[in-house]
Amino acid sequence: MTLLEFADVHQSYGEEEVLDGISFGVDRGAVEVIIGPSGSGKSTLLRCVNRLTDIDSGDIRLDGTSIYARDENELRQQVGMVFQDFNLFAHLTALENVTLGLRRVRGFSKEEAVADAHDHLERVGLLEQAESYPAELSGGQKQRVGIARALAMDPEIMLFDEPTSALDPELVGEVVSVMRDLAEEGMTMLVVTHEMGFARSTASRLTFLDDGRLVEQGPPEQLFERPEHERTGTFLRRLT
Ligand code: ADP
Ligand code: MG
Repeated sequence: MTLLEFADVHQSYGEEEVLDGISFGVDRGAVEVIIGPSGSGKSTLLRCVNRLTDIDSGDIRLDGTSIYARDENELRQQVGMVFQDFNLFAHLTALENVTLGLRRVRGFSKEEAVADAHDHLERVGLLEQAESYPAELSGGQKQRVGIARALAMDPEIMLFDEPTSALDPELVGEVVSVMRDLAEEGMTMLVVTHEMGFARSTASRLTFLDDGRLVEQGPPEQLFERPEHERTGTFLRRLT
């Protein structure tokens, strides 16, 4: 059942302990939403999963196998990542941003890659923008290309690091809607977000991190209505 497992994960930058013994599991098909103040270690936690950041001690297991016992390229394919600032290639069209990985990582022929990329762009509602360059797209459209690109790797799990934080408010909805569709299709997702509407409607569970520690974890209604820890309540009241 558990697809991703953090086991006593510690990570420091110099003297600063950024992840201070994080342990929890994410079930297959679950939508785990991570919340917490700026600097609490949310991005670091996500980056550890596809080894953009190495950990000092503990272990992270995907499907029962340590990520450190896996081939790094294969791991990056199995773990899709969507960033706050999109990370698209500016000199490539939306379509090319998606076909690049299909050709280089998955070894698709040009024709196969284009056909598959079209399917993924359609999935995020962007088929008509396939030939557009990032500069010609809105922030919401850029982020949907980012999601299509990650999905094209056929990942086991998708990580989202504040995917709507760089967007104008009127563009947040289209990205959240794509994320809801993915959740409904059964994609396992680990999502750092301040979008409490998404958390309430879609999260299987909410995890509150503070100062590198897991403070509280539970169903969204529990954290919103009856938080066990003072800090959780204070944080959520400020957001909503
Ligand atoms: P969050 O995403 O919750 O805002 P981060 O994981 O980005 O938190 O950062 C947690 C802490 O680690 C912060 O104090 C941040 O300054 C520090 N940090 C993050 N990345 C680095 C890095 N590459 N080098 C040094 N310190 C870092
Ligand atoms: Mg962050």
